[in-house]
Parts: sequence; C-alpha cells; structure tokens
Amino acid sequence: MAHLKLHIPGPVEVSEATWRAMATPMIGHRSQDFQNLYGKIQPQLQQLLGTEQLIYLSTSSAWGIMEGAIRNLAQRKLLCCMCGAFSDKWLNVAERCGIPAEGLQADWGSPILPEAIDAKLATGEFDALTLVHNETSTGVMNPLEAIAKLKKKYPDVMFIVDSVSSMTAVPIHFDALGIDVLLAGTQKAWALPPGLSVFTCSEAALERAAQAATRGYYFDFVEFQKNAEKNMTPSTPSIPHINGLSHKLDEFFAEGLEARYARHRATNQMTRDWAAKHGFTLFPEAGYESISLTCLNNGAKEGGTVMDIPKLQSAMKEKGILIDGGYGKLKGKAFRISNMGDETEETMTDLFTKLDFSMEELR
Ligand SMILES: *Cc1c(COP(=O)(O)O)cnc(C)c1O
Repeated sequence: MAHLKLHIPGPVEVSEATWRAMATPMIGHRSQDFQNLYGKIQPQLQQLLGTEQLIYLSTSSAWGIMEGAIRNLAQRKLLCCMCGAFSDKWLNVAERCGIPAEGLQADWGSPILPEAIDAKLATGEFDALTLVHNETSTGVMNPLEAIAKLKKKYPDVMFIVDSVSSMTAVPIHFDALGIDVLLAGTQKAWALPPGLSVFTCSEAALERAAQAATRGYYFDFVEFQKNAEKNMTPSTPSIPHINGLSHKLDEFFAEGLEARYARHRATNQMTRDWAAKHGFTLFPEAGYESISLTCLNNGAKEGGTVMDIPKLQSAMKEKGILIDGGYGKLKGKAFRISNMGDETEETMTDLFTKLDFSMEELR
C-alpha cells in the first residue's frame, strides 16, 4: 500500500525513527528492564507536564481514561462542558456509566467560558466536571488557565481535563493549574501510533478514587498509582508504545520544549496565513483558535471560498497526503488541517504547495 502522509488531526504521521524505536526486542513487564524504562521516562513526563505527581501509562485510547476518570471521580453529579464532538460525547458516556450528569453546552465553534462554569458550580450540585482543552472537532482551544482558576473556589469539584490534541503542542503545567486529572492519547500531538494514553492525577483525585466502590479494575486510578510507585503498570502494557514514548521524549528534550511549542505556533500561523490567502475564514470564535490544528470554513461565511471538499481530498490523496473533510455534522461545511506532532515549516510548505496545486486543478 502506498504511504499516505497523514495531515488529519489524529492519528497523525508517525516518523520512521519512531517506528524503529518501537521495534525493540520484547521485555517482561515485571522485569527490572521494564522498571528501568518507566523509571527513565517518569521524570521526563513529570517535567513535560509540570508536575511532581506520578504519570501513568494506560494501554487504551483516550476514551478509556475519559470513561475511567468519571467512574473514579464523579460520585454525586458530573458537569460536562460541551462545545464539540468529543466534549459532547462525554455526557453520553457518563449516562452509559449510570453517572448522574448534566451538560453545559456551548455552540460548536464557541469556547466554554469560566463564567458559565462558575454559574453551574455555584449550585453546589456537582462534584466533578469534564473539560476538553482543545476541541479537535471544531478547532477551538478552551481557556484552560482561566477555567482552572475556578478550582480554588470549588476545591471539592474534580476538574478532569482531556488534552488529547494539545498535550506536548502547548505548555500545560499540571501542578500550577491545580486541576485533578490531565489525560491524552498518543496518536495526536505526541505523534505516536494510537493505543496508549498518558495521564496524571492530583492527590485529591486519588483520595476521591479510593472511595469509589464501582471504579472497576482496568482503569482504577488507585492501582495506577500503586504500580507507578514501583515503575510498573497494573496490567501488561503495550511495551512497544512505551519504547516509542521514550524516543519521543528524548526528541522533545533535544529540540527543547519551548522550541517545540514555538514550532507549533509557527506552523499553525502558516495554516492561518494559507487560509487567509485563499479566502477561507476560521470556524472557531476569534481568540479561541487551536494551535495544533485549524478548522476552516468552506464558504460557510459570506464571501468565503467554496470547495468541493471530497474532490479536494481526492486530489490531495493522489499527491500522497490525507486531509480531513470535516468532523461529523461539519462534514463538507468545514475542513481541518493538522500541524501537530513532527510537522515543520518545510513539511507544511510542502502541504500548502500541494493544496495550491490541487485547488488550481479543481478550478
Ligand atoms: C481524538 C480525541 C479523543 C478520542 O481519543 P481516542 O483515542 O479515540 O479514544 C478524545 N478527545 C479529543 C479532544 C480528541 O482529539
């Protein structure tokens, strides 16, 4: 099969060097070699996420931890902050788990604002909330810092934050934010294959979890903590992924975290410039655009460029690149371009050159 380079917002392209790092001989997950591997990456992960808490590795996609977090932490009533496909679905997942929950819905394209959350929490009904930092379906980045400030006012509410498409692309300091759970799957900004999740919990979250009678086993946060203290995971993890993670962390620190964040800002700005050049407006409300991907209106706003997106996707496929055609109800109305992971000014220039050619062909 010909190699189609992924420019969709997840999974993203995985480098040859990463695949090679994953193809190391298997080791036992209760061996000293495994403990050494986890012990090597633990401080790197803590530095990356700005925390002294232990970082846990779950062999699951992000939804495993998203569901696990509410099973561990929401006992009375959960507030689901909703502004796109991933955040909206969390309410449905809570319902399926039998957890009392209520949605706080913002229009797709709009962010979740702290004032709205404050008003909900003021009722005193809620003991946990879910928030998606970077709503990948709409390209909206929610104001995490401003929202996290509410934690001081509501210390008993567990703040559960999905940073699936922002972790490693923008700085997130877990301890400084004071939130309770931070999680991400590895197939987005980490630029690893899907199948592993990285997460961490506050002390308060671990105490809350210990009281949850029906938290199950596979996603039991108390088990993750107990095992992580010994540089182990509760069950057999995907060891190739962890070798890949170790390789990525070495890359991140060799590049420098600040340089990595700057690279994401620069490649994201290139996307916005390309959009402006072609008359595509951005789907998110101004001021809340994501840094790791861009959601462009396909002529949805007056005077905007209108493209046949499926045709544009086919023209790009012929040039070896896969682009997105719009998530769920935005299909055809908006489309997304990812700049997360390993993308550079060079690879983005190649993408835009091919997009320009493709658009010319379709004219
Ligand atoms: C991709 C994504 C998810 C879903 O992750 P899975 O790996 O499919 O479980 C959740 N939240 C956000 C913000 C995402 O971008």
